[in-house]
Amino acid sequence: MSFVAEFNTLPLDAFVKKSLATSSVAARETLGKSKILPADFAALISPAAGELLETMGRKAHTMTQQRFGKTIRLFAPLYLSNECVNNCAYCGFSRDNPILRVTLSLDEVRREAEELKSQGFRNILLVAGEHPKFVSNHYLRDCIAALHADWPGISLEVGPMETDDYRPLVAAGADGLVVYQETYDRKVYADMHTAGPKRNFDWRLETPERAYAAGFRRLGISPLYGLADWRYEALSVAAHADYLLRHCWKAAVTISLPRLRPCAGEFEPLTHMSDRELAQLVCAFRLMFPDVGIVLSTRETPKLRDGLLPLGVTMMSAGSHTEPGGYTGAGKEKIHHTERGRIVELASGASEWAPQPDRATNATGQFNIADERPAAEVAELIRKLGYEPVWKDWDAALTT
Ligand code: SF4
Repeated sequence: MSFVAEFNTLPLDAFVKKSLATSSVAARETLGKSKILPADFAALISPAAGELLETMGRKAHTMTQQRFGKTIRLFAPLYLSNECVNNCAYCGFSRDNPILRVTLSLDEVRREAEELKSQGFRNILLVAGEHPKFVSNHYLRDCIAALHADWPGISLEVGPMETDDYRPLVAAGADGLVVYQETYDRKVYADMHTAGPKRNFDWRLETPERAYAAGFRRLGISPLYGLADWRYEALSVAAHADYLLRHCWKAAVTISLPRLRPCAGEFEPLTHMSDRELAQLVCAFRLMFPDVGIVLSTRETPKLRDGLLPLGVTMMSAGSHTEPGGYTGAGKEKIHHTERGRIVELASGASEWAPQPDRATNATGQFNIADERPAAEVAELIRKLGYEPVWKDWDAALTT
């Protein structure tokens, strides 16, 4: 049975109600258990458990150190293209946004990657909008092949594909696939995705399974917090992770915790998750899934990232840019608008989207990041907190 079939049977609204109604006694009992079961997750994210955040934090911290040691895996996103055929209300790359767009050539991708390598990174996340004309499967395969020799960890965050289309990407050297469901609430999903292939909720939800069948051995999942009720999303992604751990057992599963950030289009979050609730959720995921990687991006502020780090986070991005060419200015001279799949030269004169000479690149980013510290500074901070920043992979942590 696919996860979609299992997901359709989940009484998620009832789970949310159960979570909200959890008593202090029940929350305490759950936290005292030596083994947390899926049925316990609603209690872990309850307001009552939120009152016990210190206890949760201590347990999560201990468990993370037992399973992962004192290591934080660092990675960087490399944006290949900000072209997209979808309209996602919360994303700056939406096709109807008149942003400045570009797709990097292979040489430009190499340039960006070289810069990240010089900063120390060996794990890279290749990100692109979904646009078959500019970001074809062949293009992605060529990008991966161009980087494979120098990059032991290559993950992708690109438009979902069929299993057979994924296989050449794995053969070229990609080992991880990240696909955010964005929201597990079908109604909100339909409201947010107004045009393009992304409207198909089930197709997206099944993506990690297709990726696994094609040979990917790192699977990253997550909602985007700020669209639907955060407890509904957390219960859903916990069920999804549980499914993947049971059915895709050769893969390492990671859960991210992205909260909506400002972007082109100026979309305002529809729901709120506080910093404290985010911390509770990190702990809850760790207690529920001792071996799952927990990913924290530069969407959060330095102060919050530093505070969340000891609670269960195992992977962080650092020094990130969310615009293609953001690290070196690669592709700057090719910036354009795209209308109905056609490249449109930039009109001269002032406009909201006019290129700015003082920026390294003029491509528009996907969203504004909150932690702008360079990678070296984040790595130093990780060391100061008593952890080892790992640039390569988990095993290499023992030798680097
Ligand atoms: S979220 Fe992804 S699919 Fe949607 S507009 Fe942005 S890049 Fe395109």
